[in-house]
Amino acid sequence: MPESANFDYVIVGAGSAGCVLANRLSADPDVKVCLRMPAGVGGLIKDAGPHNWGLYTEAQKHMDGRKLWWPRGKGWGGSSSINGMVYIRGHARDYDQWRQSGLTGWSYADILPYFRRSEGYRGKDETFHGQDGPLVVEDSPLDSVAYESFIKSGEQAGYPYTPDFNGAQQEGVGPYQRTINDGERWSTARAFLHPVLKDRPNLTVMSTALVSKIRFEGKRAIGVETLSGRGAEPTLVRAEREVLICAGAVQSPQILKLSGLGPAAELRKHSIDVVQEMPGIGENLQDHLDVTVIHKMTQKLSAYSRQAGLKKIAVGLNYLLRKQGAGRDNFLQAGGFLKSREGLDRPDLQLHFVNAIMIDHARTQVKADGFTIHACQLRPESRGSVTLASADPFDHPLIDPNYLATEEDRRAMREGVKICREIAGQNAFDALRGEEIMPGQDVRTDAEIDAFIRRTGETIYHPVGTVRMGVDDAAPLDGDLRVRGIEGLRVVDASVMPTLVSGNTNAPTIMVAEKAADLIRGLSAPAPAEVAEPA
Ligand SMILES: Cc1cc2nc3c(=O)[nH]c(=O)nc-3n(C[C@H](O)[C@H](O)[C@H](O)COP(=O)(O)OP(=O)(O)OC[C@H]3O[C@@H](n4cnc5c(N)ncnc54)[C@H](O)[C@@H]3O)c2cc1C
Repeated sequence: MPESANFDYVIVGAGSAGCVLANRLSADPDVKVCLRMPAGVGGLIKDAGPHNWGLYTEAQKHMDGRKLWWPRGKGWGGSSSINGMVYIRGHARDYDQWRQSGLTGWSYADILPYFRRSEGYRGKDETFHGQDGPLVVEDSPLDSVAYESFIKSGEQAGYPYTPDFNGAQQEGVGPYQRTINDGERWSTARAFLHPVLKDRPNLTVMSTALVSKIRFEGKRAIGVETLSGRGAEPTLVRAEREVLICAGAVQSPQILKLSGLGPAAELRKHSIDVVQEMPGIGENLQDHLDVTVIHKMTQKLSAYSRQAGLKKIAVGLNYLLRKQGAGRDNFLQAGGFLKSREGLDRPDLQLHFVNAIMIDHARTQVKADGFTIHACQLRPESRGSVTLASADPFDHPLIDPNYLATEEDRRAMREGVKICREIAGQNAFDALRGEEIMPGQDVRTDAEIDAFIRRTGETIYHPVGTVRMGVDDAAPLDGDLRVRGIEGLRVVDASVMPTLVSGNTNAPTIMVAEKAADLIRGLSAPAPAEVAEPA
């Protein structure tokens, strides 16, 4: 088999985690780092292609048998290059629970320094935020009356105002922070990769081939095989120290299984030699299911009018010349973290307020002004899986998030719809609120709301957990992200999270990679943060 040059570390996947690792590991000029990614550049959410893997779930048993669209980023920056740019870390107790499960070094106080290390916050706080990291984070400008109406309506409905969801208090309604730098999307490729590529001869990016499997000598990972196309001859890329799998929550378990790590029966079914039986790989899939309440808007203030017709030209010029105006907007500047019932220790619902009509991931165009309130359940009980469709690495694996498998998950989502309606019904929305187009006036009873959720619920793109870390024998990874029983192999991406965090998953994945870089380099962890635990 042909071989490429040898490296110390081979990183598989140039996404949110992979770009961070490439930067941090290659900071040592004495180590040689190779970052592998398939061809493609950053791009859009709507279509499958060079920017987007364009995946679908299996038919969902508890959602009328629907197959749900799952965009995942493909090129430089991975999903951080197609995501909504909302910067959220989750709730402190999410991480404290990881620590309580036995994962030393993963409590909120332990991981806060890594969030800070990655972040270049343009706002004022220095207690919770970092100012000097590569990941630029800005406060939303709240530049439309619509965002203010949403926040005021939330307060009128009885929820507290939260100025910084990543600060002292998560619960409430308020402005989002975003990974936007001077009007430009700040993917992890822009933040961590591009700035160092030119000056680091020890960092090589190879972007023409898919990683098809990990190569082992006995129980040691010695490199990866790559393929430039179906049926092409594989090339071996050797890793003297470690292979680092960063292919995300769908493809990391796929690569491990194709390499002979996974449930033995599943591997044998596809004639894959078992290197080590690991039943936990591909299990424990968790995702945020999302449902929307959509109204028409009685004023021309939403994305539709701000970008319609000739205005598109003005918007484009304003953005190109001055990086100002609607062209720099993600139309997602406010949101909320709320409890669906009494007695919870932290919010279990997240709201995203979008200043546009957003149906089916914006794949259905509606030519009208409007606003959309999204609600997703933050810590679902339902667990799904990623399994192999075949032994061909070019075939997408089978994704079954198993949404809405428990009564608690159905209840929380139902309450989400009711809360969105409650907020949309407040006085502060009177000047903007038009007809409710989803769910619509004919959806009123619990049974009707449940049916609406089954019919229209979609992912809000946060799959995790398929190669989880843990201290129990069934966990594929230990707390240092090493694959149990195998030398020279770690997984570093969203798949390692044992449970979903209470929020969007880009910043938490970046945090995981920052911590992994210290673990891999054998550096001692920073002193735990001394802040009062956020409410
Ligand atoms: C449409 C969308 C909107 C989102 N919005 C937000 C948001 O607003 N805020 C937020 O915090 N989070 C958001 N997320 C989630 C967040 O972006 C992800 O959780 C995060 O990017 C996951 O990082 P990762 O490193 O695990 O995987 P990814 O960033 O997906 O990276 C995986 C990389 O591995 C590569 N890869 C896969 N298989 C192979 C292979 N065989 N060989 C080589 N390379 C391979 C992929 O091409 C990709 O580049 C969104 C996600 C999506 C898709």
